[in-house]
Parts: sequence; C-alpha cells; structure tokens
Amino acid sequence: MSARSLAERSREAVWHPCTQMKVHERFPPRAIVAADGPWLIDEQGHRILDAVSSWWVNLFGHNFAPIREAITDQLGRVDHIMLAGLTHPPVVELSERLAALTGLGHAFYASDGASATEIALKMSAHSWRNRGRPGKHRFIGLEGGYHGETAGALSVTDIPLFREAYAPLLRLSATLPSPDPRRAAPGGSPEAHLAHCIAALEAWLAEHHEETAALILEPLVQGATGMAMYDPAYLVAVRALCDRYDVHWVADEIAVGFGRTGTLFAHQQAIGPDGIAVKPDFICLSKGLTGGVLPLSAVLTTDDVYAAFYDDRTVHGFLHSHSYTGNPLACRAALAVLDTLAARDAEGRDVLARNREAAARFDDLTAPLRAHPRVKAHRRIGMIWAWDIDVAEPTFAARYHRAAMDAGLLLRPIGATLYVMPPYVLTEADQAFLAEGLLRVLNQVLSECDALPEAGVATVPVP
Ligand SMILES: *Cc1c(COP(=O)(O)O)cnc(C)c1O
Repeated sequence: MSARSLAERSREAVWHPCTQMKVHERFPPRAIVAADGPWLIDEQGHRILDAVSSWWVNLFGHNFAPIREAITDQLGRVDHIMLAGLTHPPVVELSERLAALTGLGHAFYASDGASATEIALKMSAHSWRNRGRPGKHRFIGLEGGYHGETAGALSVTDIPLFREAYAPLLRLSATLPSPDPRRAAPGGSPEAHLAHCIAALEAWLAEHHEETAALILEPLVQGATGMAMYDPAYLVAVRALCDRYDVHWVADEIAVGFGRTGTLFAHQQAIGPDGIAVKPDFICLSKGLTGGVLPLSAVLTTDDVYAAFYDDRTVHGFLHSHSYTGNPLACRAALAVLDTLAARDAEGRDVLARNREAAARFDDLTAPLRAHPRVKAHRRIGMIWAWDIDVAEPTFAARYHRAAMDAGLLLRPIGATLYVMPPYVLTEADQAFLAEGLLRVLNQVLSECDALPEAGVATVPVP
C-alpha cells in the first residue's frame, strides 16, 4: 500500500470527468469507500447525503438489496454474452416489459446515454434512407438541450461549454427555441413564449422537413442547462407537427425517465387532443434504468421504424453494435428496478404514490428556501427541485459544492441554479437534514461570494 492518499493517487492516475484537473491541486477529489441508501461514506468516516443521485442515476439508494440480489443471482447464471446471434432471458424479459410500459418496442441496447442518442439519430436517418428518402438526414435540437457528449450526441447538444472546443468536429444540428418560460421575451407571458416556440418549430419544419430526419428533446425538464422545466403542451404540439411534416420525434428520457417527473416517463404527461398521452417515435433510456448500479441504455421505437429495416438486404439492417450490448447483469438490475416501481406497500401505494407524499413534505421543508430573498425563481416537478439564485459570482457553484460536501451533502449547482434530484428513499429525517443544509450552505456561500473583492477565477458551471 502506498502511503499517499487515495485522492493524491487518483489525481495522478485517474482523469476525472467534467473536471479541470488542475482544480484538484487545491481541492482534491473526495474518496468514497462505502455507500448505503442515500449515504456516501468517505475514508474518514464522514457521511454525505447523495442529493443528486450520483449524477441523476440512482433511484433507490446505494446497496439496494433487490438490485444487489438480482445481479448476484445472474452472475451465477450468465455473466455476459454477445447479443449478436445469441439471446438470454433477462434481455428478452426486459425488452417485453419496456414495450408494455411505453407502447414502443424493439429495444436496442448500449451502455450509456450518449450511445442511446447516437443510436436513435442513426436509426432515424437510416430508416428514412431505407424508405427511399436519403435526403432526410438532418436533426433539430432545442436551446439548452443536452443529449450526451460523443460527437453525434454533442451535435444535438446546446451547452456551449461542452460543445465549443469540438465545433469543427461536429455537424451541428438546427437549434430551435426552448419552451423554458424563463426564456420569454422581457415582459412576455409564458403562454406567449410557448406559442412563439411552437410557431418557430412549425416554421422550421415547413421549410426544412425534406432534409430533417428527427427532432430530439428532453421531455418536460432540460436537465444539464439548469433543470429548465416546461409545459407538456409543447410536447403535444411537437407530436402534431412531427406527424404533419413526417419528421421523427426522439424523446430523450435518459434523465427524466423512471418516475423523476412524477409519471413513469415524462412524455406521458403530455395528453393529446384525443385524451391519450402522446407517443414519441423513439425513446432513449439510461441513468435510472438500472437504478444507477450498472451502465445500460436502451432505445425503443415504433413498429414502423423497425419495419423500414426488416429486409433481405443486409445493408438495410441496423448494423450498429457495442460489445456489451444487452449485458445480462445490467438487464437483471433493470428488471429489479421495474419490479420495485410496480410493487405496492401495505397501504397499497407504489413508488410514485409514495414519492408524491415525500415531495409534498419536502416542499414544506424547503418553504424557507423558496422565501429566501436571493432566490429569484423556484420550480419543482415530481422529484426534481430547482432554485435560481441571485448571484453573479462565477465560482458560486464550485464554492457551494465544496461547502455542501463539508456539510455532509453532495450537491452540484449548475451555474446559479441550485437543484436537488434525490434518490427515492430519503427518510423524513434525511429530508429535514437536506432542507436545513441547503439553506445554511446557501447563506454561508452567499456571504463568502458577497465578500469577494472582484469576480473570482472563472470556474465553469458544470452539472
Ligand atoms: C446524462 C444524459 C445523457 C448522456 O448520458 P451518458 O450516460 O452520460 O452518456 C443524455 N441525455 C440526457 C438528457 C442526459 O441527462
């Protein structure tokens, strides 16, 4: 064993994601050696509440017995096999159940969200090509949209910080106005802004539908841009316009799926004129899919898209592949997640019903935060809370993150937006600890920022 600390060794051997490594000279990464429920335990035995579900993946806390047991059981059966020419029980069952839950099917698997985006984009364009419309190969994304950071995913992502350095490598998509009501023109109403966004989409499609394969968006919550939340009516309009102009709609439910917004999937809150929830042409899933335990993503699509590939010609097939496609252990974790979401407790409540009660309780506990004079705006949907802080200091987010860690909370504000996206297992005491800590750390960091003589060294806002 080396005498040097884990943090020090990590700094030398590990290139950490979404990190300017030089920052770790002054602020080393925290070494976590155990995790249980919503709690992370560091080397010194400090307990840290994982209030962002470890980048939005964890649903039921760490070391969750049903997932642990499912994976352990599967290890003794089939650990991993290639999925070309072979199949196995967990991938079949998971695919059937995801189809039953969404009304879309033909599940195609990868290991991360960005790969799911790539798959959806490639499938969409290739399906048009197979249908004799090879000119339809362009994409549309929304302002502030985030769909992952591989080259294809980045080309539909509108987070300048993540995209700028790679712009020459990308074939950028069209970026249309986001229905985030905070983007309304000064003095404009949220309704007028929504109408403006729908009109902009319609105008774009009217002119460009011949070359457009698909529109990709995050339903209801644009996460990485700062938990921007918008009206489901936008999705109803998206469905109608994409139908009218023969353009696919890709719903990126990677962050918002599995109950985060209060329904199993976010797009299910958009009720069409027929009284039925709208259905996208593609759904991308990852993050919560395995409860945050193993990497897995899936893309679901329509029978119609599937049929465009079903042919005697090899080149009309979807020949995309990843080595770990449909990994049996990850599929078992996902099945345990679906079982957990479907189960009811002694009072007949399922996870979503219990979440509604927990959310109402946390709303009460965070009333003082909402009323804070420096909170400019606040919003909540399902189990996602966000507060926009009136602070110009660019190091606010980094300072808040560090101060929160010292207070036993894992939080990473995005720019001046403080948010929580906790696992669904916080006790009332955990909730009270989080609510009290959010406010106390805010006051501490604001006085720190307010006392700074000049703007600090620009530390970039990252999710
Ligand atoms: C996290 C995220 C992705 C990318 O997933 P990775 O597993 O990080 O590649 C894509 N879309 C959305 C909406 C996300 O939040």
